[in-house]
Amino acid sequence: MVLDPRGVALAPQYCLQKARRSFDSMPPHAAISRYSGDAWFGVPIAVANKLARLRHLDIISHEGDRVVLHVPAAQRPELHELLDLNATLEVEDVAAALAASFQPWRAQRARALAASEWENWFQDWHPLSEIEDKLEKLAVQFGGRATLITLGTSAHGRPIRALHVGVGEPYEIVVNGCIHAREWIAASTVIYVAEWLLRNSTNSGLAWTLIPVLNVDGYEYTWTTDRLWRKNRQETPGCMGIDLNRNADIAWAGSDDCDQLFPGKTPLDAVETRVLRSFLQTRSVRGRLVTFFDLHSAAQMVLSPYAYTMEPPLAEDSLRLARVAIADAMNQVARQSHRSSYHKGRAATTIYQVPGCIFDDAHANLHVPFSFAIELRGHHHFQQPAILALQCGKELTAGFLAFLPMLNTSSHFGVWALARSPKVLDSLEVLVQKNVLLVGCLLFLLLFLAACCISQRRGRLQQTSPADVDMEELGTNYLTYETDDDVHGLLREARHG
Ligand SMILES: [Zn+2]
Repeated sequence: MVLDPRGVALAPQYCLQKARRSFDSMPPHAAISRYSGDAWFGVPIAVANKLARLRHLDIISHEGDRVVLHVPAAQRPELHELLDLNATLEVEDVAAALAASFQPWRAQRARALAASEWENWFQDWHPLSEIEDKLEKLAVQFGGRATLITLGTSAHGRPIRALHVGVGEPYEIVVNGCIHAREWIAASTVIYVAEWLLRNSTNSGLAWTLIPVLNVDGYEYTWTTDRLWRKNRQETPGCMGIDLNRNADIAWAGSDDCDQLFPGKTPLDAVETRVLRSFLQTRSVRGRLVTFFDLHSAAQMVLSPYAYTMEPPLAEDSLRLARVAIADAMNQVARQSHRSSYHKGRAATTIYQVPGCIFDDAHANLHVPFSFAIELRGHHHFQQPAILALQCGKELTAGFLAFLPMLNTSSHFGVWALARSPKVLDSLEVLVQKNVLLVGCLLFLLLFLAACCISQRRGRLQQTSPADVDMEELGTNYLTYETDDDVHGLLREARHG
């Protein structure tokens, strides 16, 4: 007899050979059973933000103008009336839903998705050790084109590994996964993209660095102790863990709360954010780093900067073309398998306004021309089956392929990026050797043009500088309900619409 994490006997269809393999890699009972009796409610965003702030409730995912809110069993009676008025019950028992994500998908559909043998790896979720094994195997199998690299070490001293694909290419794309520990599908999708590139792409002048799990400590913790842990596992005064994607030094906003969105005590005080930031900075020298993708789940969106402000970036025209190309290609694959589509837009105006995001930082401060946050598929939140990563991988690969030709069009880089590109700098070096006077004139002209661009850009940035952002107006819209009276105020608001 096969038992689920709560000790309940599973239905016969789950007691197959495949089920046994899945359950072998299932987190221990405690990581899931701690959520027994907890529920997920679909709630309007405004109500959810107030409740999340007031009761430290966890927002699980965003879907349009509603979010999925995690309500612990102990708080359900207290919030019963409010939730009855505003919410729809999405998941009655979170522990059971999480356990379901380990059950095998209907075999026929799984086989249809995994058309090639190598894609069978995506039939299961994988703990950190298996992901690291996979990276090592790919590096050995595709030696010469793939190199296993270590970006740095985590707060607990674990190596943060990545696969570098390509040798000597002048430009580079970085794809990052699992900055949020519980978003497992991002890790699997990064692995899919890595293997697809190694099997199918030829040298295109582009190198790729693929980081399946940035938040290694948090990811491990989701397997051993708490499946829904989001932050890293760093101790700061009073808090355990920092939200790595609120900790970047762009419009960073402190918080006294130690909830799932805790942004740290100071910008970049989270070890893993510093490791990633420093890696991106190294790679962005001389304009080498042309694109950064940060993968999340599960709002199904292609998001471009900025998240911290409603104002568009200077390169909005190019970014808009890029996100449209990516989302359209992803949706084309989605349609073929009759799946729902991805939305696209600037992060602040499409999902929510939020400070301290690493992809904003990459674009604004490291001058990475193209920077995106991709919210992957996950219609069923964290109860999604592992095989869904295969669908995400196929969709994202199509999105990347549609986007790559834009990198050949220099106008999409913007003047400031083009002036920093290795090709332009190398050309200048050759000219220096040939004719100093001519180069002097050219440099003067370039400096003049750069000064014009910078002053124009500064003018624009000053309008939207992080310091000027009114944090009260951020889309998270955290209000100051702090007492039980405030809960009743919220109830009254809800009653009166
Ligand atoms: Zn995320």
